[in-house]
Order: sequence, then structure tokens, then C-alpha cells
Amino acid sequence: METVQGRTVSDGIAIGRIFYYRHIRMTAVRHDDADVREELLRYEEAKIRASSQLRELFEKASKEAGAENAAIFKAHQALLEDEAYGNFIIDRIRGEKVNAEYAAALAGEYFERLLSGLEDEDTRERAADVRDVTERLLRILSSQMEEEPLLPEEPVIVMAGDLSPSETIRFDRSRLLGFLTEQGSLNCHMAILARSMSLPALTAITPQEEWDGKMVILDGQTGTLYVDPDSRTMERMKRKKEQLEQEHRELLSLIHAKDETADGTRVKLYANIGNVADAKEALSYHAAGIGLFRSEFLYLGREDYPSEEEQFQAYRQVAEQLDGKEVIIRTLDIGADKQAEYFGLGEESNPALGFRAIRICLMRPEILKTQMRAIYRASAYGRISVMFPMIASLWEVQEAKRIAGEVRDELNKEGVPMGQVAFGIMIETPAAAVMSDVLAREAEFFSIGTNDLLQYTLAVDRQNEKLEPFYDARHPAVLRLIEQTVKNAHAAGCTVGICGEMGADPELTETFLRMGVDELSVSPSALLKVRQRIREIRLDK
Ligand code: PEP
Ligand code: MG
Repeated sequence: METVQGRTVSDGIAIGRIFYYRHIRMTAVRHDDADVREELLRYEEAKIRASSQLRELFEKASKEAGAENAAIFKAHQALLEDEAYGNFIIDRIRGEKVNAEYAAALAGEYFERLLSGLEDEDTRERAADVRDVTERLLRILSSQMEEEPLLPEEPVIVMAGDLSPSETIRFDRSRLLGFLTEQGSLNCHMAILARSMSLPALTAITPQEEWDGKMVILDGQTGTLYVDPDSRTMERMKRKKEQLEQEHRELLSLIHAKDETADGTRVKLYANIGNVADAKEALSYHAAGIGLFRSEFLYLGREDYPSEEEQFQAYRQVAEQLDGKEVIIRTLDIGADKQAEYFGLGEESNPALGFRAIRICLMRPEILKTQMRAIYRASAYGRISVMFPMIASLWEVQEAKRIAGEVRDELNKEGVPMGQVAFGIMIETPAAAVMSDVLAREAEFFSIGTNDLLQYTLAVDRQNEKLEPFYDARHPAVLRLIEQTVKNAHAAGCTVGICGEMGADPELTETFLRMGVDELSVSPSALLKVRQRIREIRLDK
């Protein structure tokens, strides 16, 4: 038996044989003196074909991994349409009279190099996207079919140097047990897709030719790979797998259970969503409402602003699905780690401290107005509340509410039906937590965004994986700020929820309930775990 340590990017245990997926890299041969018109035409046709393939992949991924996770294929589409990328290819064909595949390969190399040299991990991931899109173009130009990678009938654990999102999603799900790759991080697309398909995955595993076809155990809990396991390890891991599955079944038995502590205190357990499909998932676990609708996902992975109508349809669908349960829509929180080029935000040396979220909405009120029109219109179809992100000062809330008021008056004049809309504030800057007694006068509820509150309180960039040990979700400074916020809110008659990741940590549930937090809002996949924890707690002890 050989034991290899990797890095878990998706939890769970898989036992099965390895299938070595060898990625065939597309290369392009240079042809000089090509017919420029002919090559430009070939490039344009390839682009159209690539675009339709990406649409199909988006559909498949939406079904298997949810629309939010499928958005990567929308991003690929945007890359394919990217002017700089496209012009690079066209200029090479025109200027150097080379064939389209060679020009595309040059563009791929150039942009991949440009992005992979950057510090930020997310930007580096974009280099893999460039590679994926370029490979797609090359395959089409060389008339190579993109075939579904054939997996053996008996389900396998796929091992590869690297897996692009297209490759990950093209495997037949029913024949897959897990993934092992050398490249990739916690937030790479293979990892995101694996998690959403509930498949265990490890990275930092260098593929070995001789492992192909071998029996292995992939332990996503410890990040260990056992190759050719001995019988004792096999027995032990089978028991562990069975136990995990048993725990999972127990969680599933809580789908209809009440969100109430062992001594009868009711807790509002809400869900965080990014789109309509997530709302469905949240409802399947009987979430009591939506505590955070990250509306910026409607703005990401596209070429232009979503229209009022488009937004209205999305908000209305979620409101209708929730059927009278509360839906808290957070107004646009773009900037920092969530970028859309058409906003033209430009480079910033400190994007997390920069032009983002409410700051953009206040400086460009037309964006907030369009969004508020859509939200108010949707409010006639359910119970919608609104909250503003990244608030640091009182005037920001007052100004945002003033703009919202103008929109409401306008719609009233137009005779548009609307429901009651409650206003809340996200507490995710230390300033907001410290000033929560004052802010509470302007809000009906608070929602604590612990992801950013941690980042700004501890001065630790949440995107920087090197700083993981310092991003301490138990830090007393953060817990004190939360406690103080709850006290101030309650004194002013405001309710308080937690919608950041700390809210989904079962080890903190009791702490939060003892502080008096009224609502926890967690990702749909964490709902049952938190429900289980709530039901164990006794607050009367
Ligand atoms: C947060 O900051 O905790 C939060 C919920 O918002 P986001 O993670 O989208 O920044
Ligand atoms: Mg935030």
C-alpha cells in the first residue's frame, strides 16, 4: 500500500479504481502566407461554434451543479467575445498572414502568461479559463470533435494533471466517484463543480502512470490517498464511509424538522442564494426564508448591465417560490473580488477598500434606481426585504433609502402594485458594528456579514490563501463586535441575522443563540447541519 497526502478541495470518501485521464493538449502548426480573408472567416465560424458548445455546457452544468456554478461557462463565453483576446487573433492573422489556429494559440499563450504571473489566486484561475477557451477554438479549427471523455462502466476516480471546467462537467456523472489532480486550489472550478456534485476531490496529487486502474481510497476528510490499500485499511475506511453516509442520512431525516432548540426556542434558519435555482434547493431543505440573495450574480459573467425587466423576473420568481416567506435581497455588491468589466471600475491598488457595493450605487444612482424599480415591482409577488452592503456611515443608509423612496414614489405615480418592503443594513465593517446603535434607527433589521467583518476587523485579506491562519473566525474582537451589534439592535427594536460563513459553523451556533441572534442564514448545503446543531442546544442550562 502506498499513502500519499494531498489537499482536500471537496469532502467525502470514495473507494474505487483510478482512471488516468490524459489531457491531449492541442498544438497549432504555423502556416505563413495564409489567405487572410479565408482565415478570418474560419476564425469567426469557430467562434460561433465555440459559443454554441459553451451554451450547451452551461445547460448541462446548470442541471448537474446549479446555475451559480455553471456561470463559469458564461464567463468562458465572455472571454471568447473579449475584444482584447479577439483583436489579438485578428491582428496576427492580418499582420503576420498566419493561419487562424496559430493566431489563436499565440493569443492563448500571451493572455495565459499575462494572467498566470499575477499575485491574486482568482486572477490566476482566469489563466486556466483562457487555456480552456483557446483549446476549444483550436479543436474546432482542426476539426477535432470534443468527445465526452469515455469512462469505464464501473464508476472510477478520475486522476489528471489538471482538469478544466469543461472537462470536469463533460464526464458522465453516473460513472464518477471522485477527482484527483495535481493542479487546482480550493476555489478552482474543478473544486467548485466537485463540491456541488457531492464528489470528493483532492489536489496536489501528482499522477503516476502505474496507478492507472489501481484500487484506491480517496479520503476527503484527511486529504489522504491510499493506493492499493491493505485489507485492514480497506475495512477501516469502509466503516468510516458507512458512518459518513449514515450521518448524511440522519441529516436528511431533518428535512422536515423544526428549527428549534432542545428547550423550545425557535430560531429563524434562512438560506443564502445567488439565483433562482439556489432558492429551489433552499426550499427543498425547508429553509424558513432567504436571508441573503446575492443579487450581484445577476450582474456577473455577462457583457452589459441586466435590465430592470430581467432583474424583476428573477426577484419575482424567487419571491413567488418562497410563497410568503421572507426574501432579503441585498442590493448590488460588486467590486473587490466580484468584477464585471462593463462597470469600467478600473484598476485599484486596494480593491477590498475601494469602489465597491453601496459606494458604487451611491456614486452611480441610476444603477441602484434600476435595481430598486425591479425589487419594488417584484414586491407585489411575495415578501421582499432589502438590505444595503458595505455600510460604514449613517449618511450612506439615509442616501440609499432616499433614492429608494424616490423610486417608490415614481412607481406609485405609474400605478404599479407594490408590497411592503422592509429595509435592513449589512453589518460588515467595524464602523457599522461600532455605530450599530445609531444605524439601528434607520433599519428594521441587521444582517451581519462576517466574511467581510472578519476581513476588515482583523485586516486580513479574505482572498489571500497565505493568510488563512490569520483569518480567525473565533477572534474575540469579531465576537465582541457581533455581541455589541446584537445588543444595540435589540435595544432599538431591530432584529439581527448572521449571513456570513460564521453563521454556518455549528461550533458557533450556541454562542450566537446565547447572544440573542434572531436568524442564521447559511448556504443551502449547510442548512441541515446547522438545524441539527440548533436542535441539540439547551439555552436554559
Ligand atoms: C459577508 O461579507 O459575510 C457576506 C455575507 O457577503 P459576501 O460574502 O457576499 O461579501
Ligand atoms: Mg460581504
